[in-house]
Amino acid sequence: MASKYIIDTQAVPNRFEVLTQSGIIAWEEGCLKCPVCVKKQCVYGVYDNRDLDIRQMIDSLDNQCMNCLRCVQGCPKELIHKSINPEYEALGDSHWTPYVIAKSWYQAETGKIPVSGAGYSGPFSGPGFDSMWTDMSEIVRPTRDGIHGREYISTGIHLGKTPRHLTFTDSGDLDSDPSFLVDIPLPIILRIPPFGSLGKNTIKGWALAAKKLGTFLALPYEMIDEEIIAFKECLIPSISPAQPYGDDGLGGVRLIEVLWGKNWKAITRQITETHPSAMTAIRLPLVGGIKETVLSLVNSGVSIISLEGTSNGRLVDDNSVFMRDTIRSIHLALVEHGIRDEVTLLVGGGLSMAEHVAKAIICGADGVVIDLPILIALECRMCRRCTKELPCPVEIDQAASSWVASRTINLLGAWHNQILEIMGAMGIRDVRRLRGEAGRAMFFEDLDRNTFGSLGEVQEGYELE
Ligand code: SF4
Ligand code: SF4
Repeated sequence: MASKYIIDTQAVPNRFEVLTQSGIIAWEEGCLKCPVCVKKQCVYGVYDNRDLDIRQMIDSLDNQCMNCLRCVQGCPKELIHKSINPEYEALGDSHWTPYVIAKSWYQAETGKIPVSGAGYSGPFSGPGFDSMWTDMSEIVRPTRDGIHGREYISTGIHLGKTPRHLTFTDSGDLDSDPSFLVDIPLPIILRIPPFGSLGKNTIKGWALAAKKLGTFLALPYEMIDEEIIAFKECLIPSISPAQPYGDDGLGGVRLIEVLWGKNWKAITRQITETHPSAMTAIRLPLVGGIKETVLSLVNSGVSIISLEGTSNGRLVDDNSVFMRDTIRSIHLALVEHGIRDEVTLLVGGGLSMAEHVAKAIICGADGVVIDLPILIALECRMCRRCTKELPCPVEIDQAASSWVASRTINLLGAWHNQILEIMGAMGIRDVRRLRGEAGRAMFFEDLDRNTFGSLGEVQEGYELE
């Protein structure tokens, strides 16, 4: 059996104070000057250790308070209040919510799974992947405990076409070329995010993380310089048909990605000639009607296809359709045509949490490509100031490559453990077996239709009894 794949994590402190969900407002006016002020009774010494971060103008009260509400309830003049931090509420957008961002910061800082405590107050369904629930029927089996159990749960996938059968020579040697399959121990590939205040050290840090994790970092071909090429074994250069491409310095690269465009075939042919040992992937935008394109690509011999939705997990040409359903339909079409194992399907766009990895795979992907989560791991606030050439509030471009790598590894370590937990609870020991296992998930729309569909449509003027 292969040795157990473990991602070693260790706490990596934030470079800036985090934005907390709530803050304390303590009024002085009207204070009775009680002999024993409730502020002195804070068991965490929050008021005694009060300080002001003058660089960020953040009061330490907000970051150190453990939300026990003792001082709020104890002040006889009700001068102390907890309030929602407006800066926290302003983080991100409706997809990259403050909750998702804050939990990603926590994972990148600690390498641990975020735990919300006893009980979950909902919501229990939402758009896209949030309307999918995974089957946790095996959750009580201790041997299948993903992280600590005795059974090994594999999260490894291979990239490329799965051979239908193996052939051997008369002497018993393998008679096919196994070099056209690349194994990665994690069904996750990193990609340079579409925006961000990035410096050379940021790119180097992500390349370092990809190397340590045993996966790949996909990046535009023109971003590869003398320093980054040192990580060539774990780089996926993305080549745009619109840009001139030379073969300079890419010897030793194992996988090259060609962006969809009218010249993609010619570029792919050129790559095959100049880099015969490298595999080629085609990257397409996830749009309506893509199924037919994918089928024809697979039939023409393309063995790795990377589909990219929007950063909020929807189709590029239709914001009302979630990528979830399109991935399912592509997977099922490939199965129907008997060519599912001829291709590795990677999907990206809007995957913001570990559960999205498992859910994308259940819908039919082999693996995923993530971009913005690795930026958020570096304390990004998703303010998009960098897209307007304004200074980054957390100076990401100034971070050391070792810090970038460790934060990224921590995030992926926490995600890996969550994937193990999900698979352990489902009783699945190999992530490749999870692919397309929609029968092991429940979809809100199906449940809603099966439960309430027979009641007919509620129309105006009807009264439910
Ligand atoms: S809410 Fe609790 S932890 Fe926070 S400052 Fe008041 S007493 Fe201290
Ligand atoms: S914090 Fe804002 S400016 Fe900095 S990288 Fe993130 S989105 Fe860009």
